[in-house]
Amino acid sequence: MKKFTLILICLLTTSFVFSAVNLKRVEPMNWWVGMKNQNLQLLVYGEDISTTIPKLTYSGVTLNEVIKVENPNYLFLDLTIAKNTIPGKFNIEFTLGKKIVDTYEYELKERNNKENIHQGFDASDVIYLLMPDRFSNGNPDNDSTDDTAEKVDRENPDGRHGGDLQGVINHLDYIQETGFTALWLNPFLENNQEKYSYHGYAISDLYKTDPRHGSNEKFVELVDKAHEKELKIIMDMIFNHCGIAHWFIQDLPMQDWIHQHAEFTRSNFRAPTVSDPYASDYDRNKMLTGWFDKNMPDFNQNNPLLATYLIQNSIWWVEYSGIDGIRVDTQPYPYKEFMAKWSKAVMDEYPEFNIVGEAWLQKIAITAYFQKDAANKDGYNSNMPALTDFPMYFALAKAFNENEGWSEGMARLYYILAQDFSYADPNNLLIFPDNHDLNRYYETMGKDINKYKMGLAFILTTRGIPQIYYGTEILMDGQEHEGHGQIRKDFPGGWEGDTTNAFTKEDRTVEQNEAYNYVSTILNWRKNNEVIHSGKLKHFLPEDGIYVMFRYTEDDAVMVILNNNNTDDKTLKTDHFAEILNQYTSGKEITTGLELKDLSTIQIKAKSAMIIDLMK
Ligand code: CA
Repeated sequence: MKKFTLILICLLTTSFVFSAVNLKRVEPMNWWVGMKNQNLQLLVYGEDISTTIPKLTYSGVTLNEVIKVENPNYLFLDLTIAKNTIPGKFNIEFTLGKKIVDTYEYELKERNNKENIHQGFDASDVIYLLMPDRFSNGNPDNDSTDDTAEKVDRENPDGRHGGDLQGVINHLDYIQETGFTALWLNPFLENNQEKYSYHGYAISDLYKTDPRHGSNEKFVELVDKAHEKELKIIMDMIFNHCGIAHWFIQDLPMQDWIHQHAEFTRSNFRAPTVSDPYASDYDRNKMLTGWFDKNMPDFNQNNPLLATYLIQNSIWWVEYSGIDGIRVDTQPYPYKEFMAKWSKAVMDEYPEFNIVGEAWLQKIAITAYFQKDAANKDGYNSNMPALTDFPMYFALAKAFNENEGWSEGMARLYYILAQDFSYADPNNLLIFPDNHDLNRYYETMGKDINKYKMGLAFILTTRGIPQIYYGTEILMDGQEHEGHGQIRKDFPGGWEGDTTNAFTKEDRTVEQNEAYNYVSTILNWRKNNEVIHSGKLKHFLPEDGIYVMFRYTEDDAVMVILNNNNTDDKTLKTDHFAEILNQYTSGKEITTGLELKDLSTIQIKAKSAMIIDLMK
């Protein structure tokens, strides 16, 4: 009995001491030896953790500084990991006087040495963009979980539908066979708010896959299986904001961790204020410090501890998972100096990598400002290798829907390319007919399959890296102004019990198969066609509603013809294309297989495209 009491007292005492600090998190949870950057800063979180003194002993690892902040529940530990440190585990001991009140076993792993990781992506790729909640439900057991607030409700267009990473894994063959070479997933990390959590852009834990999508291990499985099928993986990351439910927003380390306003202040969403030489501080501050939405607190990346936290978080995901690239949400919204520092840090660690910034801008000059090595008068260099080409998107959305004019119709496409001198690297622009924030492409084309084909023929053969949004290949529709749920519908057949399965040709309609076959034929032809990946581009002024563009190298060429006339079939005389065509005698239209034995005139139907592989 005495002995029992003693044990009980011991237990109570121990638990009392433990609960006094109650270590909850160390982030990054682990790191790697042999990184180019030898610095590592750990965020330590636990009740009154700052009252303790952390200690560690491991050969090669130095604890340089312990940083306390306003909130006693945080400590930041500055470490150096020497070059030849051996992988292994060590204890970080948190001490109060002579007592160790808590320990964290920290692991320094060997670097990720799997094959085919960190490949980058470029114009030889075509990217399939999908929203994990809306593509396929591979595991109905995780549709709702105990530890997340919003439960599954497939009837609600803004609710969670149950799609997950297993669903993506299950359809990698479909994506690969269709002809895509890369996959960009909208964010899949935990978004634990009460409602409207499915889209993924309000992250509540930057180190954790949302349990309704799977687990971190499941994501690694997806990356590995994609790589086996020669599909690259692009992860979506956000540096402007996180979700209001984020654990560190609930208990801020410092008041300037985020931008706080006396009353709710929304960003003016005017990204041009960042590059505008005449912008007022008022406008620029509102752009940079205003919140994206009420449930998205705006990060202050000028806080150096937060900046390091975000940079290390990205590098952790790259190293941990083996991904090939990153898509950066709202690139102009964080402080531009931070974005430049972040890009440089990632690219320095992974030189083969590629990163595309979402620069949702109307104008070419302003877009160009945000690309790495842009010739900016203010000296700004974003270090961001790739950018989204919104000006091309806007042109594409109009070009096939209007009558020809001096600057309308085909001239829109012509003028976009004619301004490529503005860009540091036009072939490293992401080009797209739509995405998860825009009207569905088929909808924009007025559900006219001829227009649909013309736009895709252009986007899949011009300069840049094409990105196709899931379901475009099966004519999914939906208008943005009717709600985002309308442009993010479930892929038919992605859920058990769906009445049709558009993953199989038997279940697709005749028109869906026509679209699918068109996309798939071009993609599979494009895959091994260097002239499209890296060939030069030459185009001719649109004439009589017909626009002609060539991609060419010294010994190969492809001719793309767009006839934008609504009703007139045309006979195109080709003599004025002699500077390219004089080397070629025949050709083959790649979507129909039509052989062209004589290139002096080419018949082209009204409202149609031809992609002609030229032969000597
Ligand atoms: Ca599920």
